[in-house]
Amino acid sequence: MKRRNIAILGSTGSIGTQALDVVRAFPDLLEVSVLTAGVNYKTLIEQAREFRPTVVVIVDEKHYIEVKQALSDLDTAVLSGVKALEEAVTLDKIDVVLNAIVGSAGLRPTVRAIECGKDIALANKETLVVAGALIMDMVKRFGVTMLPVDSEHSAIFQCLVGEPENSLEKIYLTASGGPFRGKDRQFLAHVTKQQALKHPNWVMGAKITIDSASLMNKGLEVIEAKWLFDLNVDQIDVVVHPQSIIHSIVQFQDGSMKAQMGVPDMKVPIQYALTFPLRQHNTFERFDFMRYTSFTFEPADSDTFRNLELAYQTLRDGGDRPCVLNAANEIAVAAFLSDELSFLGMSNLIEATMCQQKKVEAPSLDDLLAIDQETRIVARDLIGKC
Ligand code: NAD
Ligand code: MG
Repeated sequence: MKRRNIAILGSTGSIGTQALDVVRAFPDLLEVSVLTAGVNYKTLIEQAREFRPTVVVIVDEKHYIEVKQALSDLDTAVLSGVKALEEAVTLDKIDVVLNAIVGSAGLRPTVRAIECGKDIALANKETLVVAGALIMDMVKRFGVTMLPVDSEHSAIFQCLVGEPENSLEKIYLTASGGPFRGKDRQFLAHVTKQQALKHPNWVMGAKITIDSASLMNKGLEVIEAKWLFDLNVDQIDVVVHPQSIIHSIVQFQDGSMKAQMGVPDMKVPIQYALTFPLRQHNTFERFDFMRYTSFTFEPADSDTFRNLELAYQTLRDGGDRPCVLNAANEIAVAAFLSDELSFLGMSNLIEATMCQQKKVEAPSLDDLLAIDQETRIVARDLIGKC
């Protein structure tokens, strides 16, 4: 494999730091030219000193001076501010942009990277939730490859390798069920953020961990899958598989099913996206049949966890609805994490926000960026009422 040059957006987060573990494991194959962080400048400085990228971006301008001074002896350019993310991905030598930013803040950098002909390794599912139709259209027009990093979508992608002539009948996205699997609404009314932040199988950033507890993560993943694999809503099913070993399943026209499995370790789908189509030997943990003697499956409880159904409904309604859902959810999760909203209050806030925002059919990218911002304002105003 020819050495690949990578930009890692959100390098200080859960996916970003695991991506750097993958880069460390393959120094001959992978090279990093861009590292970016939101506010965590100390980790960014350490990473820059180790990987010596061409450019680092600290989005929060308050920390620009600290980063600039700490790296003054290196040949690394230090940029700051939101626009700098879009500038950094244009660097000529970059082959792949790994977008591991959290939230809709990841959308503009993805767009810019596609416009510059870069392949995208996408962890930032919000990019596709907000603007899936437009993004996949750009992917075709600019002839780039969109490589999923989300474990379920990587699983589907891997199952489809070698099947270019066979269309799939449907897919099953697996869900762990999160920390509150099997609980009722009475229980959920009193859960704390500490409880919600304890995921049974994965250690991840705070926002996706809360999304996993509320099943919004699976809802966002249904939307992500629709666009990545060009599916109808009724071709996407969710099945709860608490062991998180089967990462997702494709069912073909003949009823045959392919599943991709392995221990829950995000380094595996990250590596696959960065070395695709090759599989390289690594020393990450292997599956042990003696540790997992049974796999179980159950339906998702979308009466208790309303977010999953809300997400499906936005796909049926189309237009800007998934964008509105996503923005309202980002505000809801932040409010839950700052103790301004209860766990069940999150779904209430999302529904109330969606009712207030009039539907826009066929929005442009600029429309979606504006709707994202407007929705946040509407949702913030509604927090006290939910
Ligand atoms: P995280 O919170 O751990 O890290 C987010 C990164 O983005 C950090 O580097 C942070 O500095 C940066 N960032 C945050 N806000 C920003 C902003 N406004 N502008 C620019 N940069 C910003 O998040 P994570 O868990 O690594 O998740 C990242 C993305 O990957 C999310 O979209 C998530 O849904 C997806 N994902 C994560 C996992 C996982 O295991 N963590 C699995 C699948 C998908
Ligand atoms: Mg996932």
